[in-house]
Amino acid sequence: MPLISTRGGPAVTASQAILAGIATGGGLYVPSAFCPIDSNELRQMADWPYARRGARILQTFLDDYAPEEIGSAVEAAYGRFDVPEVAPVRKLDDDGTYVLELFHGPTLAFKDMALQLLPRLARLAMDKCGEERELFVLVATSGDTGKAALEGFADVPGTRCAVFYPSQGVSEAQRLQMVTQAGANTHVIAVRGNFDDAQTGVKRIFGDPVFVAGMDARGRALSSANSINFGRLAPQVAYYFSAYADLLATGSITPGQRVHFAVPTGNFGNILAAEYARRMGLPVGKLLCASNSNNVLADFIHTGVYDARRPFYQTISPSMDILVSSNLERLLFELCDRDEGRVVRWMLALKEGRPYDIGPERLGAMREVFAADWIDDQTTCDTIQRVWRDARYLMDPHTAVAARALMNYRERTGDRTPAVVVSTASPFKFGREVARALLGETLIQGMDDFACCDLLASSCNLAVPPSIAELPSLPVRHNTTIDAPGMAEALRNIN
Ligand SMILES: *Cc1c(COP(=O)(O)O)cnc(C)c1O
Repeated sequence: MPLISTRGGPAVTASQAILAGIATGGGLYVPSAFCPIDSNELRQMADWPYARRGARILQTFLDDYAPEEIGSAVEAAYGRFDVPEVAPVRKLDDDGTYVLELFHGPTLAFKDMALQLLPRLARLAMDKCGEERELFVLVATSGDTGKAALEGFADVPGTRCAVFYPSQGVSEAQRLQMVTQAGANTHVIAVRGNFDDAQTGVKRIFGDPVFVAGMDARGRALSSANSINFGRLAPQVAYYFSAYADLLATGSITPGQRVHFAVPTGNFGNILAAEYARRMGLPVGKLLCASNSNNVLADFIHTGVYDARRPFYQTISPSMDILVSSNLERLLFELCDRDEGRVVRWMLALKEGRPYDIGPERLGAMREVFAADWIDDQTTCDTIQRVWRDARYLMDPHTAVAARALMNYRERTGDRTPAVVVSTASPFKFGREVARALLGETLIQGMDDFACCDLLASSCNLAVPPSIAELPSLPVRHNTTIDAPGMAEALRNIN
């Protein structure tokens, strides 16, 4: 099945879409149709391991990949996870509340679900498309994506990955995760300034024809691993099917029964994958879009008006600190019956800093599926405490935002449909914030992030994951710091 762009233009194969990242004209690649998975097959999936479920769903999207290619890529990607279930579903209470844990990959955040696979798909795509240049993947990160991309691309032949992170603005653990990265083809560069400086710099580099031509002359093709790449979206659809299959396997639901998903949302990639699963026939009830104080999406789902003109807040769930959610474009495309001209007009408004309004009919259609809420930092901390007290389950701040949004939804509506809270990070990845929420500021005063994790672990009788615990003792392999105007130069200097 070919892929088409949300802003019009020629259809492409999956491998072309994965190498290109973004479509010409700035559009995003989407499937030309959604391949149905019927209820019989869903029931069969209950007996399958994660890799087989994942491969089955990916096959529907990756038209020019052989089943064996997908199968071995998936096996290799998820073989690195620290639990055999890959994405286990935990029961939280007797009222039909479950947690889908997506943080068992090497970097302890849900980005691994896609970024362990994307480099393998990209590598295969290079052969399919006859790309002989080296794939040079550039990433600007506010924390989680950079490390996940580095882990995914490290030592993948024919690829190179350079990550820019803001010198102020990532946690100590996040910084160490990146600067200790192994792999001869990985590069990590600190940029003096904030995330926007790094992000703007990368965008400028992609848009600089002289730079791009210079790289081409050296046999390098620029590429991107951010969440608009279709190769990141497709693997995320699979875990919604997997969660449903697990609930069937444990008898928690009956075949065909609807399930709600509450998703902590930033760039709208994760929750969009759930919507794709629904369009493929997964019995999804509501998709609950959970934001932090950066509540532009919650307002949009309530009013149909997307208005990014508002203050930007730094919160304790930083991976959701975002005001322009790029994957929303893919939902808009479906909501307006794939009217690309309309998408172009809305995206132009956004680019020019104006609001856009999808109108009452599309708002109604969206609200049949989507509900939304936003949760401030104080309430997020309360929720971490409350879930630990009531269920002895430790949540990271992003997950807690979704858990609270679900509690509020149930209170507001009385709707008792079984629901899955999608958990996007290990609590130890945000150990300082979680320790503060649970134990109070005075207890952690003067401690570094690692001491916070140790205290959290001993207080909760849990173990700090090895990939966090080992960080302070790993050799630092990357120690370049530059000013934003020097980013292109830094890339040219990479041999
Ligand atoms: C990236 C991320 C999110 C947001 O996911 P989107 O797909 O951008 O909506 C939420 N939580 C964590 C921990 C993340 O790393």
